[in-house]
Amino acid sequence: MARFVWACRARFLILTATVILGGCVPSDRKETGAGSWSGIRIVLDPGHGGRDVGASHEGSLAEKEVVLDIALRVEPILSRKGATVLLTRRTDEFVSLTRRASFGNDSHPTLFVSIHANSCPSAEVNGFEIYYAEDGRERDSVQAANFIQQSLKRATDARDRGIRKFNYAVLARTKCPSVLIEVGYLSNPGEASLLSKSSYRKKVAEGIADGILAYGKTRL
Ligand SMILES: [Zn+2]
Repeated sequence: MARFVWACRARFLILTATVILGGCVPSDRKETGAGSWSGIRIVLDPGHGGRDVGASHEGSLAEKEVVLDIALRVEPILSRKGATVLLTRRTDEFVSLTRRASFGNDSHPTLFVSIHANSCPSAEVNGFEIYYAEDGRERDSVQAANFIQQSLKRATDARDRGIRKFNYAVLARTKCPSVLIEVGYLSNPGEASLLSKSSYRKKVAEGIADGILAYGKTRL
């Protein structure tokens, strides 16, 4: 099944060499202010942007637009809870992996969440996947991935393609718990249709946010 994600994966691999390590440190009880959501810092990383369109469906539905819209819907759900939410981009702009990683590291987040949509040669493949990196922080990353997996499944009823290990640059180079969510396949007509609708993006956003909040609760 791994061959199905090469389109998205390859773009990360090509850019991996340019990522620079920053000074991000894992948050702990002391830094987060025990018991307060104000101490929870979440970095949302909508993939691609600007000249980097990402995946697309027949050239009309761009991954960069879908994932930015979802991230901007996740943000207020977390903010209302009192968490601090930071985004690597808020507009259709190109952001290098160097800047994404540096931003994540400098922000000292409780959790770094990269949001993507996938594509593959077979139009039949659909569903969401959540990735973590084997980077010494995988125990926390997998815990976050588990929460998001459960809530995303509940919110969307999409096919659950599981939690997978892969050393994407943005995951491996951020020195804090981090996950990368592939919310669905734009190469699948049904899923592309769903992801084009604001009502479904809202469900995806709620699923992601609920999982992040469940993880955040363990860090209060
Ligand atoms: Zn992507």
